[in-house]
Amino acid sequence: MKTGNPKRRLTLIAAGGTISHVRDPRTGQSVPGLTAAELLHQTTIANTYQVRPIDLAERTKPLRHPNELLEIARCIRQAAETSSGVVVTQGTDTVEEVAYLVDETVRATVPIVFTGAMRASWASGYDGSRNLENALRVAATVPADYGTLVTMHDEIFEAWSVYKADTGAIDAFTARRGAAWGRIFGDHVMLTWRPIPRARFGEIPLTLPSSVPIVMMG
Ligand code: ASP
Repeated sequence: MKTGNPKRRLTLIAAGGTISHVRDPRTGQSVPGLTAAELLHQTTIANTYQVRPIDLAERTKPLRHPNELLEIARCIRQAAETSSGVVVTQGTDTVEEVAYLVDETVRATVPIVFTGAMRASWASGYDGSRNLENALRVAATVPADYGTLVTMHDEIFEAWSVYKADTGAIDAFTARRGAAWGRIFGDHVMLTWRPIPRARFGEIPLTLPSSVPIVMMG
């Protein structure tokens, strides 16, 4: 697949994470700082698509409460109604949970693509711009029936199968055993599988429990 129809209307939702981190000049600490518009501005393809930037309020800490996940899901559902693709940037520590929740609950007819970064914007080898460019390409190109996707390090994963396998590596993510994954070569999006239709929950619940029982078996 080649980079999609120029000037497709996409939405970029920025929800914190290392991809947005800048260095606080006072403390030297890595802190969230880049807005959706600033993230977009750093890419080389900001003008290839019509992208509406949305900042999810004050997302300065890692996601903790399940209801914060629902807030992201609602924002994505709304954005999907008015665009032909939605890209979400967020922390990589919880991206597999959020992307899977969105895949199960948001009934969207447009592609939804998550991404993030393993290195902050002030660090050498910042991977956020490339990951975001790839996410925009995927959202503009891939049919919506692939479900929610995650792209990191030039690779594309289905939300149900992706997981962070190595927190110290730039290619931190992988797919569960037996699951397919795609690649991005230059500006070409390559998916080598067709999605298998499967039943999804299909509704965003009003609330989620803040904890679930953990049952041990011996
Ligand atoms: N290290 C994480 C990240 O990649 C932090 C987080 O998940 O918020 O963004």
